[in-house]
Amino acid sequence: MHAPDQKNCEHPGCDLAGEFRAPRSRQQLRDYVWFCLDHVRAYNARWNYYADMDEDAVEEDRRGTAYWHRPTWPLNGGRPPQGIRDPFGFFETEEDEKVRQNSELPDSPYTQALAIMELTPPVTPDAIKRRYKELVKQHHPDANGGDKQAEERLKAINQAYATLTQSNGP
Ligand SMILES: [Zn+2]
Repeated sequence: MHAPDQKNCEHPGCDLAGEFRAPRSRQQLRDYVWFCLDHVRAYNARWNYYADMDEDAVEEDRRGTAYWHRPTWPLNGGRPPQGIRDPFGFFETEEDEKVRQNSELPDSPYTQALAIMELTPPVTPDAIKRRYKELVKQHHPDANGGDKQAEERLKAINQAYATLTQSNGP
């Protein structure tokens, strides 16, 4: 028996509680399907989030160099089960989601990239480009006496810029 508002796992034939969410598609990152743990793992394994990224972007993303500006990003908390990457909060419960929404943390690579670039939607490609040039100038290590942190920020900015220019939107 589940609580009345409890979703069931959407995997055909599975009647466990759907406690774990996954984005329905890359174009619908805000539209979720709900699974039990085993089925969200299977779904997650099939999800090829990196299909459109080049090698460098993938590596940057894996190293998590875009940590700047998101001190409480959920990935820094408990690791998802069995070391599976959890870029979209697959392993969050609905409670976690409520908490996170209340604190208005960026929760997709796109919104996260916007936050890094200190942009608020809606943004135009021109606005992104303009902001990027400003930030590069501002955070370039040469302008900061070779400061290591400036270098890290610049990396995060480059990654955010790539995310925003390669993305179709949130
Ligand atoms: Zn299931």
